[in-house]
Amino acid sequence: MDAARLDLDGKPIKAMTICMIGAGGFIGSHLCEKLMAETPHTVLAVDVYNDKIKHLLGPDDGQESNQHAWAGRIHFHRLNIKHDSRLEGLIKMSDLTINLAAICTPADYNTRPLDTIYSNFIDALPVVKYCSENGKRLIHFSTCEVYGKTIGSFLPKEHPLRQDPEFYVLKEDASPCIFGPIEKQRWSYACAKQLIERLIYAEGAENGLEFTIVRPFNWIGPRMDFIPGIDGPSEGVPRVLACFSNNLLRGEPLKLVDGGQSQRTFVYIKDAIEAVLLMIENPARANGQIFNVGNPNNEVTVRQLAEVMINVYSKVSGEPVLDAPMVDVSSKEFYGEGYDDSDKRIPDMTIINRQLGWNPKTSLSDLLEATLTYQHKTYAEAVKRATAKSVAS
Ligand code: NAD
Ligand code: UDP
Repeated sequence: MDAARLDLDGKPIKAMTICMIGAGGFIGSHLCEKLMAETPHTVLAVDVYNDKIKHLLGPDDGQESNQHAWAGRIHFHRLNIKHDSRLEGLIKMSDLTINLAAICTPADYNTRPLDTIYSNFIDALPVVKYCSENGKRLIHFSTCEVYGKTIGSFLPKEHPLRQDPEFYVLKEDASPCIFGPIEKQRWSYACAKQLIERLIYAEGAENGLEFTIVRPFNWIGPRMDFIPGIDGPSEGVPRVLACFSNNLLRGEPLKLVDGGQSQRTFVYIKDAIEAVLLMIENPARANGQIFNVGNPNNEVTVRQLAEVMINVYSKVSGEPVLDAPMVDVSSKEFYGEGYDDSDKRIPDMTIINRQLGWNPKTSLSDLLEATLTYQHKTYAEAVKRATAKSVAS
């Protein structure tokens, strides 16, 4: 490993031990890969699952291969942070804790609001407490959803101010957090994330906790969520990338919730991970900050996302496009009672630019081509086999 790696201020970066909670998830798996391939840091990977990081683990973690250049720098700890006394010890052994653990699929927010609130607020409390009490740095994963709806969404549809960035661009230190009423349980997640952000901020202000809060704006790429009935429950509803991938793999129309009019900005996971690495290795620039991490140039409506994915998937798989490739579905039918939606999410990039000089690079079409090529290679055969089996039985 290159001993002369330098931070943004030209100082040598020292090897550190990182306690990564939720390391077995989508973001965690990419972050572990990056840390193993490009840095000298050690990762204590905490999760209840390790399927997405198995390829990085060695014999100590029950895996066969010991050939990795990073052998001995990643250790898996299978534990549920809800009730495991080993957590504090792992945080104490580390220089930095990164907390990614959460229930973070919208289909759960209105159908399992208690689990959602416990996971995103209550279960994160000991992590914050142990970091604060032991003087350890914390990078906590929040969400762009803490902004909720844009100010502009409350103006009449044709109002000219809706086009004014002041009414929709989301700024860490200026925008309000606007959620729907309590009966719209969709906001249980955003509200729990907002409260844990406030708690972390207060720990920083009153007790000197060194923290960084990350607000991801729709990070997407390989290994995101699951394909229902293949590597996740048949009735499960993952986030939009996996929902649409599942439809494409099965040759079904893509389901547009409430007309697919909501807007999102999508950022490639590999770009976003670069931003996280800069935070890890530049504490003086990242501590005390809340960072939007997204790609304001990759904005589409969900309908446009579906159109691009349909065309890209056809190109990478060689499968023809259906005559009716999309179908409308109401949110009540798709998600059930209590669903609500964020209308538009454009991240302001001033703070991350100023502090870390980070900018996303990958266009939506490029990131979808890479991701759908992966989805096709990984799942097409398994989906064919599962479909043939269910037709035969
Ligand atoms: P993910 O579901 O793939 O990963 C979360 C991981 O946490 C899972 O592997 C899960 O098993 C683990 N986990 C959950 N509860 C746990 C517990 N009690 N004990 C141990 N492990 C537990 O999700 P992700 O996309 O990787 O998201 C990571 C973080 O980023 C979450 O906090 C999420 O709210 C936030 N986030 C992500 C996005 C995105 O675009 N992917 C957007 C907004 C916010
Ligand atoms: N969506 C959709 N069809 C699907 C899945 C999701 O139209 O099969 C919509 C959903 O209503 C939302 C957007 O896609 O407007 C993004 O959903 P996602 O689950 O990725 O999470 P969000 O960005 O809302 O947090």
